[in-house]
Amino acid sequence: MTTTLRDIPQVQKLLLEPHIAALVDRFGQDDVRDAIRDRLAELRAAILNGQEVDVQRLASAETAGALEEQLARAAKPVLGPVINATGIIIHTNLGRAPLAPSVRAQIDAVAQGACGLEFDLKTGERGRRGQGATTLLRKLTGAEDALVVNNCAAAVLLALTGLAGGREVIASRGELVEIGGAFRMPDVIAQSGAFLREVGTTNKTRISDYAGAIGAETAVLLKSHTSNFRMVGFTETPDRAGLAALAKAHDVVLIEDLGSGILIDLAAHGLAREPVVRDVLKSGVDLVLFSGDKLLGGPQAGILAGRADLIAALRAHPMYRALRADKMTLAGLEATLRLYLAPNDPMQDIPVLQRLGCTLETLRARAEYIVQGAGEGLDLCIKESAAQVGAGAMPGTSLDSIAIAVRVPGQSAKETAARLRQADTPVVGRIKDGTLLLDMRSSGAEDTPGIVAALRGLVA
Ligand SMILES: *Cc1c(COP(=O)(O)O)cnc(C)c1O
Repeated sequence: MTTTLRDIPQVQKLLLEPHIAALVDRFGQDDVRDAIRDRLAELRAAILNGQEVDVQRLASAETAGALEEQLARAAKPVLGPVINATGIIIHTNLGRAPLAPSVRAQIDAVAQGACGLEFDLKTGERGRRGQGATTLLRKLTGAEDALVVNNCAAAVLLALTGLAGGREVIASRGELVEIGGAFRMPDVIAQSGAFLREVGTTNKTRISDYAGAIGAETAVLLKSHTSNFRMVGFTETPDRAGLAALAKAHDVVLIEDLGSGILIDLAAHGLAREPVVRDVLKSGVDLVLFSGDKLLGGPQAGILAGRADLIAALRAHPMYRALRADKMTLAGLEATLRLYLAPNDPMQDIPVLQRLGCTLETLRARAEYIVQGAGEGLDLCIKESAAQVGAGAMPGTSLDSIAIAVRVPGQSAKETAARLRQADTPVVGRIKDGTLLLDMRSSGAEDTPGIVAALRGLVA
């Protein structure tokens, strides 16, 4: 007896079958109906191809199980947690800085309902947005005032639009950087309505180059951190104090785009030296711009810190209204900044800094624990590796690290990597010289169970 199209049951009937009805309770009628329709379409095609099919199986527990898996996969948020085992600590594609528990709790608290975003609880009057973060920024950087926008790119755009629009910005040829994601300094300056005047050469720019270029139309001297590259050999850039004196003498504003601003001296912790915001301001820079989610270790934000009159002008600029940060960002930033104050220890309490400073012994112990927990059937090997800070911070600096090399018999590194990305909590590693590596420095201790589960899943 051959099956015909007529034998295919109606969707409405299938929805009432007990196994399927249970799915409707969980995933809702619409999604289950769509999933069944897809399956019926496949059956129809099979029948028209002359294949023998068993329509009774449609209502079976086996089919319901397959449907459940499909529906659960579709119901999973597209943007969900991932374990960063790439070896790049601040990975822009993976959401940059992981946040500390107290920071997450504060974001959750203000997300729940109303908060005093622009409300002064003491007076009952309208208050200033981001007051908590601003107060801490002043304390931690010595700035007169500060302003928070959505990211550092927005900070650069706002500062140049507000302070140099229609006038001239002088920048060194060696600092006209492209950060990535279409952020190219000459284009941003053009977008701000300012005119770029390039000075110096690719490798050498002196104070005299700036001095020779300053004219009546000059509004801003712009210094930028060459975040994602490093020049070696015969190079020269003017020191900040010299540039600051020049700016002051000509009554123009000195702005520095630091990119990954940092609030503490990392060199004191045995890491590469990066300019500390407080020192940059002390050397006379009028306005410093930096990210909230690079080395600072907080939520995505752009921070402008410096002279009170400049901040006041930018706060009043219409573009600020379009770029200002929301309550969750401001709550997360304030809570992150608090971790820089005693009795907290930023090197321990801020996940990005904790990962930077984590000892090799700790990383190795975690790798050993993971290898033991992963069970039989895999070829796992603990090796020394090199991690990076990422997000354009400390270019060319590599950090000693420990990685687990994962081999599954009969499977390519690419296939294994793809399977780890399909785990309940996806694990993203990196392939080096044909070997899949799970680097320990870019993830945290709390990721250990997830890595073990994903590895176990490879042999299940
Ligand atoms: C990263 C970076 C930016 C952009 O910062 P976002 O927070 O990603 O917008 C701008 N300038 C420099 C020098 C940077 O390193």
